[in-house]
This record gives sequence, structure tokens and C-alpha cells, in this order.
Amino acid sequence: MRYKYENKKRKYRKMKPRVGRIAILVVIMIAIVGLSVFGVKSLMGILNPPKPNPIALYVKDTSLFNEKARNAKEVVLRDFAIGKELPRHKPLPADMKIACLTFDDGPGYESTDYLLGVLKKYDIKATFFVLGSKAEQNPEMLKKIIKAGHEVASHSYDHPDLTKLSPAEVKQQLDRTDEAIRKAGGKTTTLLRPPYGNYSKEIEETIGKDIFLWTVDSNDWRFKGDPQGSADTVLGTVQPQAVILYHDIYDSSVKSAEIVIPKLKEMGYEFVTASKYMELTGEY
Ligand SMILES: [Zn+2]
Repeated sequence: MRYKYENKKRKYRKMKPRVGRIAILVVIMIAIVGLSVFGVKSLMGILNPPKPNPIALYVKDTSLFNEKARNAKEVVLRDFAIGKELPRHKPLPADMKIACLTFDDGPGYESTDYLLGVLKKYDIKATFFVLGSKAEQNPEMLKKIIKAGHEVASHSYDHPDLTKLSPAEVKQQLDRTDEAIRKAGGKTTTLLRPPYGNYSKEIEETIGKDIFLWTVDSNDWRFKGDPQGSADTVLGTVQPQAVILYHDIYDSSVKSAEIVIPKLKEMGYEFVTASKYMELTGEY
């Protein structure tokens, strides 16, 4: 500490420590600069959210895997959005808007539970294409789905490409799944959505179930963590009669459905189950 002799008052007065003051100023300056950099960064993050990084769960024949896509969303919309077109035998009036919400690969856990709440809120019945293996793991959730009045149909036992299996193996995949659904209190389903949408004429003719695919692919598994991305995909490609594909095993998928449902309601869509959809549109 330094002291200065002051003539007037004839006494020593304590001087403010100059070095300490400079240090405090420097710290404050660093803090201000740091906070503004952080602030600008978070603002930029809000204005320009990072693009989702698509991760391929299923190998699909798409340019996304053989071209350097600058914008994943564009490629997804171009290659995937329309899904698989069903040959419709009973064309409906163009102004009749029906949407069949379908959820594959479950039953999931928290995400499925959340979805059941959303469906209840909007008083909608959806269709769950469950895996027998998942149903065995989580029978309580399947019971809850059935109790809520949703339709439960088959998506095989553990998601193989059915076209790569022998007829006996295909039968086993379907029988085990039917059994798991029955055990949870459900009815034996007459609908099968083959994994990856892959099936052969032989499978179709021998399994004793109707193949039920989709017309609108939310691509929700590509938009994990980005519910708005898959919601935009659905809303941007929806047709007057739409079978919409989702997976209830991802949080972002059920959040996406939560965005889509009220929008479709506003657009005048009526929600139907897969069986009802088939009844209205015909066999395929
Ligand atoms: Zn699947």
C-alpha cells in the first residue's frame, strides 16, 4: 500500500491501489467481451439452428448415400416423402380428406406414452404396427394402447427383411407377433406392414394377412431431434387420402405428430384407423 503526504491536512492519506483497480477493469472488460461473444453465439444458434445430421438406420436406395447433399431436407423430400404409393381400387372423392396415422417399430416406452396422451387430447384413433419382440418386452404399453381403443397390427417379430427368409421363417415371424398381441389382450390382426416395405408376391399370397404400406413418409428417423423437420415433410407432401408413417419409439416423432395433428384437423382431415382406411379405399 502506498501513502501520500498531503500538506494541507498534514496527514498521510491512503491512496486507492492503482494496480488493483486496473486488474478489476481488465476482468470486467474480459467478462463483457466474453458475454457478448456468448450472446451473439446463442443468438446465431436461435436464428440459424444447426442442420440435422441424417443418420441412416435402414439402407435405402437413395441419392443421400451417393451424393454429397448440401441440404439433407431437399434430398429427403425428393427421395422419400411420397413413400410407397398404394394401388387404390376404390378411388374416393378428391375432396374427401382422410388421414391414417400409423406408428411402427414399437411399442416404445416414454415416447409411446406421450403419444397416447396426444391422441387422447385430440380424440384420434391411430394404428400401431408393433414388433412382436417389443410387445414381449413391454406388454404393459401394448395393453395401454389396446385399452385406449387404437388399432394394433403386425410389423413382424424382430424387423427382418421378409423377402430374405424362408416361408417357414416368415410364418414364425408373424405367428410369434400375433401371439404377443393376443397375450396383451389384442385381437389377431389381419394387417401386416412388412419391415422396409419389402415383400414378395409369394409372401402376399401365403400369409393370410393384407399388406398395408404407407403413402406419406414422415422420415422421422432422419429428423431425430427435429420434430418440425418431419412435420414439415408430412404437411408438405400430404394427399387427400393419406397413410402417414411414423415411429413411436422416438421422442421427436411423437412431438412431430403433435405438430401435424392439429394442422391436419384445420385442413379438414378426418382420422381413421388402418382397417377403416382399407374399408373406405378398397383392397390392395
Ligand atoms: Zn419398421
